[in-house]
Amino acid sequence: MKCYKCEKAEFAKRKVEFTQFGISLGKFDALVCPICEETVFEGKISKQIEEQAKKAGIWGLARRTSIGTSGSSLDVKVPKAIAEVLKLKKGQEVIIEPTAKNKIEITVV
Ligand SMILES: [Zn+2]
Repeated sequence: MKCYKCEKAEFAKRKVEFTQFGISLGKFDALVCPICEETVFEGKISKQIEEQAKKAGIWGLARRTSIGTSGSSLDVKVPKAIAEVLKLKKGQEVIIEPTAKNKIEITVV
């Protein structure tokens, strides 16, 4: 199968380590483009990764939260599940930056 991203090479099968939140979920069969490194996990492999992420307690960490106020600033509550995985503590320094019109990225420093 030709790489759909760069269209310059055929995908090759390779074992790829899958890491989420800095936690390795193991090595999985993937199709990797030797030119642009685009990596594709097939359906049944994606299911295996999902199972491993569930076992590790890091599956589906997206949560709905809301913006509150703190003095003249706005604050965002970080849900407990996310705070636990990232080992966040009160007073922890982070860098916050908008990455799109509707997206904010928070990096723990
Ligand atoms: Zn490619």
